[in-house]
Amino acid sequence: MSSHVEERVPDRDFSQGAAYVKGRFVPLMDAAVPVTDWGFTRSDVVYDVVHVYHGGFFRLPDHLDRFERAMQARHLAPPETRAQMDDILHACVALAGLNDAYVSMMALRGRPRVRGSRRPADCDNHFMAYAAPWIDVIPPEVQARGAHVLISSVPRVPDASVDPTVKNFQWGDLTTGLLEAHGQGFDTAVLCDAEGFLTEGPGFNLFVVKDGRVLTPDRGSLEGITRRSVLEICSDLGIEATIAPIPRALLESADEVFATTTAGGVMPIARVSTGRTTHILGNDRPGPISAALREEYWRRHEAGWHLTPVRRDLAEA
Ligand code: PLP
Repeated sequence: MSSHVEERVPDRDFSQGAAYVKGRFVPLMDAAVPVTDWGFTRSDVVYDVVHVYHGGFFRLPDHLDRFERAMQARHLAPPETRAQMDDILHACVALAGLNDAYVSMMALRGRPRVRGSRRPADCDNHFMAYAAPWIDVIPPEVQARGAHVLISSVPRVPDASVDPTVKNFQWGDLTTGLLEAHGQGFDTAVLCDAEGFLTEGPGFNLFVVKDGRVLTPDRGSLEGITRRSVLEICSDLGIEATIAPIPRALLESADEVFATTTAGGVMPIARVSTGRTTHILGNDRPGPISAALREEYWRRHEAGWHLTPVRRDLAEA
């Protein structure tokens, strides 16, 4: 059994979630990052989020692959091996006693070993993780009626500046989009890049349906695991799906739009607004292709597609 699991603090209340910090398991609310950690002061951190559905991780190897690629891209090398990280994620869920969970893993730069050093290579990198009860990026009741989204006035940060395929917490542009959207009564925001092509939203990828074809942006976006799942489902169902540039005008004239994320799945969008004009999609309700993909995504979960059962024994060690 992993030594990480044995170092958990006994008799603590993990009912609100369990976290792993510097080799110890602690209740989620006690998990903290030092104020001098570059993961905090410089957002020098990469992360990934996987969900647990009815006792099983969804596509855990794919999330760990993406996380490893992100760590390599940012030269982050915490001491835990991939197998130990895998054990830790299982143990967090098991300790929290969760069947449906939001499970986050992070690699942080840490603090310099040499006082005053400005060199990233001088820092002790570390791994953190936590399991919390299930979270939906867009509340279920909003998903059911179709979300109302604002096209933010702020362009997505250029890919050449912050690589969107390396999952990061540099959310300045996405948070501005949320502030604008909520200030104008919308549920959430979507961002285009400076050239006017659709990218993604705060915590989700985007899809547009036009004349029976499904499209998702080829730029400015994370290579989402849910997006990949939807592309696979489209292929299996014989729905034409393409990764392509999506001009803003297409978003405003789409038949359907939907968002995808680990924290919510396939989430239909019913209105897309510039703030001045609002495009009402279909019947102001989730469109038929969005609804079919959403249903199939969850049906496959029920059938155990890509699910890895949570190893509960890791919490009993
Ligand atoms: N884009 C951003 C910015 C995200 O933060 C996320 C998920 O958190 C996604 C897209 C969706 O990716 P995934 O389906 O892997 O959760």
